[in-house]
Order: sequence, then C-alpha cells, then structure tokens
Amino acid sequence: MNQSKNTIRNLFNLLFLLLVLECASSKMNPSMKLLNRPIRKFELPELDHIKELAKTEDDLVKIDVIGEVTHEGVTYPIHSFTLGTQDTSRPTIGLFGGVHGLERVGTQVVLSYLTSTLAQLKWDKDLRRTLEKARICSVPLINPVGMSLHSRCNGNGIDLMRNSPVEADPETTYPLLSGHRIGDWLPWYRGEVEKEMEIEAQAVVNFVVDQIFKADTAITIDFHSGFGMKDRLWYPYAKSKEPFPDTPAIHKIVEKLEETLPHHVYKIETQSDSYTTHGDLWDYLYDMHKNTPGSEDKLYLPWTLEMGSWAWMKKNPLQAFSKSGFFNPIKEHRVSRIMRRHLLLIDFFFRMTRNRKAWRYEI
Ligand SMILES: [Zn+2]
Repeated sequence: MNQSKNTIRNLFNLLFLLLVLECASSKMNPSMKLLNRPIRKFELPELDHIKELAKTEDDLVKIDVIGEVTHEGVTYPIHSFTLGTQDTSRPTIGLFGGVHGLERVGTQVVLSYLTSTLAQLKWDKDLRRTLEKARICSVPLINPVGMSLHSRCNGNGIDLMRNSPVEADPETTYPLLSGHRIGDWLPWYRGEVEKEMEIEAQAVVNFVVDQIFKADTAITIDFHSGFGMKDRLWYPYAKSKEPFPDTPAIHKIVEKLEETLPHHVYKIETQSDSYTTHGDLWDYLYDMHKNTPGSEDKLYLPWTLEMGSWAWMKKNPLQAFSKSGFFNPIKEHRVSRIMRRHLLLIDFFFRMTRNRKAWRYEI
C-alpha cells in the first residue's frame, strides 16, 4: 500500500515539475523563441536579424562580410557594420558580440543598439552630423557556428577568446579555465600551438586593424555573459596582474563615468582581478596597437562587458534547467531590461571618444 502511495506521489511530483517547466518556457522572451518555441540547434535568428539590417541603404552606413566559416557543409557569414564617416582617423566606438556562441544576449544587445541607431539615422539630423565626424564599428556575431550549435567554442571546438598567441603570466593562471592545449573535448581549449588563429578570430583582428587602429581615440566593448552577480566592466590586461600602460586613461574615464552617470550599475575592474587567461584577443590587439609605428599619439582602449547572468538565475532559478539559461535572460521583462540597460554606457563611451581633449588625457 505504502509503495503505491509513493508511486502516486512521485507521479504527482513529476507532473508538477513538467507543469512548472511548461509555464516557465511559455514565458520565454521572443528573442529566445522562434515560432513560439525555444531556439533549436542550427537556428540562428540573430543572423536573420543581421541580414535584415544589412539591407539598409544610407551613405553613412557600410555593411560587409569580413569572413566566412563553413561547418558540416553550411557556410556562415561574419558581418561587420561601420556607421559614420569613412575617415578612419576619426573618433571610433567599437561594439562586438557573440565571441562565445552560448552568450546570445551579447549579440542581441549589440543588435539592439545598431537597430535603434539605424532607425534614428533616418530622422535625426544631429545624429547624422555626429556621424559625419565619428564612427561606430561593429561585428555583432563573431562566432555564428558556435551560436547555431549552442556552444561556447567555434565549430573546431576552440574558445576564440583563448585563441590569440598571447601567453599569460603562469603564476596567476588557473588550470583549464585560463586556456589549455589538452584537447577540444574540454572547454577553454586554445587550439594547437603555432597554428594560425581561427577564421573568426582573424576576421576580428583584421577588422580592428583596418577600421579602428588609425582612430585618434577608440574605445571598444566586447559583450559577454555568464560570470558573476554584477555587470562587470573589465579593462586590460587579461594576461597579467601587471597594470597596463593606459591605466591613467582608465582612471580618467571612470572619474567621468562616476560624475556623469552616478547611478550606473557597473563594477569596474581590470579583468585579471577576476581571472587571467591565455590568448585574449583584446590583449593581443591592444599590444599590437601600442607597437604599431605612428600610434604614439593614438588611444585605443578595449573593454569587456561581462553581464552578470547569475543574478538572472537567482531571480528565476528554473532557467538553470536549460543550458542557455546560465548565460541569457529568459523572462521577457528581464530581456527588455537588458536590451535597454547598456544603451547609456555605449552612448557615454561614444561621447568620451569624441571629447578626449575635454577629459585632458595626454598620452
Ligand atoms: Zn564569454
């Protein structure tokens, strides 16, 4: 008798769990859903969104394919956007997303900003005047294969943010997490030693060198998620706990951020305060820029925004049942909030690039 009671109780528990999961999934945000269901493997609504934006016709907008990656017979384009003057010496903000395929929200935030700016460009003369003298450069979806596979790494099993030739200070690295060369069956795999960078990583490097290195002032933000309760704004280095050469510029920017947006939500720190990594693409590009002849009077600051996805899970523990729930907001109101949350920061950084004299940072 007791056994049959237990069976009935277990059945009820199972039914209750299924009901709760069904309710949770019915509240998923539209950007996480296709045709009223969660995004399945191989579906890539973010790429469809990019292709839609790529139809824009405006003399201040240029959209290119900067690389193509083929995986299991399917070829995926990597798109770049440049909004504004084609004079690459002008102040530039760079927006990057989707390095890690599981972190769809980074791509979605960048696309949200680009969509809004392209809409605004149709009617806002002040914005047009601004962009006649400045630039917004972006690669919103760096790792389309990874995103279509719901995977952090690219189609070759390589973590693109561990893939550059930069070696971290071995005293400060963690096993595996900081990047390793054991094999692609483990996360954070760097790829084989002395092999060329992956197509996606090389496409980003080429784009930044061509479109951003010549700017008198450039700030880039690479959008990630999956670590911590707070939104962390990281500045270099990832490779070492040593202060990086433009730390005084960071202090000036932080000072202005505190004055201008005193209620901002960001925890600002050097990336190595959280962990150090080998092969960081932004360390690689920053050092390359510093060593480029003619860059002495130019300022290039690559930031990473690590959105604190643990806070989304704390508020909605059920999303821990899905792999993408660890990295992305699920509930509709939270997604809308995240899409709005960083617009002020992007705008602030863009203004900082255009007003370097005002914050009196001399190189
Ligand atoms: Zn990431």
